[in-house]
Amino acid sequence: MEKLYFIPGSQDLYGEACLKQVAADVACLKQVAADVAEMVAFLNEKLKGTIVIEQLPTVETSEICLKDMRRVQDDDDCVGVITWMHTFSPAKMWIKGLQELRKPLLHLHTQANEKLPYDAIDMDFMNLNQAAHGDREFGFILAKLHVPHEVVAGYYRHDDVVEKIRKFAQVAKAIGLSHRMRVATFGNNMRDVAVTDGNRLECEIKYGWEIKYWGIGEIADLAKEATDEEVDAKMAEYESKYTMATDNIDAVRTQARYEVAFDKFIAANKCSAFTDNFQDLHGLDQLPGIAAQNLMAKGIGFGPEGDYKIAAFSAVLMKMAEGRKGATGFIEDYTYDLTPGQEVELASHMLEVPASFAATKPEIQVHPLGIGGKADPARLVFDGVTGDGIQVTLIDLGDHFRIVCADVELVKQPLPMPKLPVARIMYRHKPNFEIGTAAWCYAGGAHHSVISTALNRADIEMFARLTGTELVTIGDDTTEEDLRRFTI
Ligand code: MN
Repeated sequence: MEKLYFIPGSQDLYGEACLKQVAADVACLKQVAADVAEMVAFLNEKLKGTIVIEQLPTVETSEICLKDMRRVQDDDDCVGVITWMHTFSPAKMWIKGLQELRKPLLHLHTQANEKLPYDAIDMDFMNLNQAAHGDREFGFILAKLHVPHEVVAGYYRHDDVVEKIRKFAQVAKAIGLSHRMRVATFGNNMRDVAVTDGNRLECEIKYGWEIKYWGIGEIADLAKEATDEEVDAKMAEYESKYTMATDNIDAVRTQARYEVAFDKFIAANKCSAFTDNFQDLHGLDQLPGIAAQNLMAKGIGFGPEGDYKIAAFSAVLMKMAEGRKGATGFIEDYTYDLTPGQEVELASHMLEVPASFAATKPEIQVHPLGIGGKADPARLVFDGVTGDGIQVTLIDLGDHFRIVCADVELVKQPLPMPKLPVARIMYRHKPNFEIGTAAWCYAGGAHHSVISTALNRADIEMFARLTGTELVTIGDDTTEEDLRRFTI
């Protein structure tokens, strides 16, 4: 389980009122540590299953801060840090430590006490409990140093505060995966497509994504080597989850064989996402269909046509959505119903729609595929989930990346589509078709994206802030006027 370190702030000098007591500064620091321990225990109970929080030594000198931050940075299980200034903590002592930090930071603006003890409050209490003072000093140094961070303000035992910390933890875990992301690209990207191309080096510099090339022959070889037992086990998994709606069992077994091969390759090379390309399937009889769909449903990122950005980004967003209700995965925009006032989009792919989008039990079907010149591939066919969601994509504009995030409403397909041999979802755009889709086009949004009914705009905004990525949002608050600002 990933963890966050909790670093409280204080100082080794106190005001006169505090120092009147015997060894008052030591007593104060003990109290700080004890209050933080209580806070950490409470949050660990509440956030069980999402994240583990561990307390580090209270920062009272620059040396302690540096040591703490190095521990955050060096611990591979740690995905971020929570800071809180229990007392005043002169912020110059945070400079060197913060300069070493390259993981997400949550500035928790809270207190050990919910209410003021009006009858009992004295100078000692005020010196010991001065987050309103210390956290503002800390806020200044974060701003001064341009440290990307989130601020959560409120009493730490309040449900809304706990939920905000949970969301930060989920985004931090996604960024943690991003930092260790390795994408296996089998072949290059589809020859003439623009938006799936870009600068792989910048992806690694900005997000940590290692975009690695292999030939699809690697998968062809592993597929050949897969044993009957391994293929039988995969077939049993398919049969338990899906309805076999084909007599062409051999075609399905071929997909099972591919998935066994991908499983082995992904594990051996520590990959979290992969791409393939129907133009480059040398050694494979079919384009991977079920194989890719089933892997996506397990959280493995996937990008068709060599789209390494959406492969990595989909894995990152699936990680962010872990433990939440709803579905998250790759999709491609296809076609519209333009009936006035009832406009709706049909989104799908030629095969590879993640099984996690299924609202009906997926059927395994085998049909010809018009492009690629290969054998008829087996694929999962189903109708998609419904509800509020977002459509998100990431584009490479050369000098920077841009995330485009649109609010959408996933809807039931109005009528059956019995001749469409692929899984599909449908959604309505916000604020309406004209503005929503025009905004996406103006913003340069890709035709490959991630749809999620588990995440919302606020999650994407947090990811964008913490990674320093430009963000364009589209939704009910988007107006005709807004379109102009995307055109430059
Ligand atoms: Mn595509």
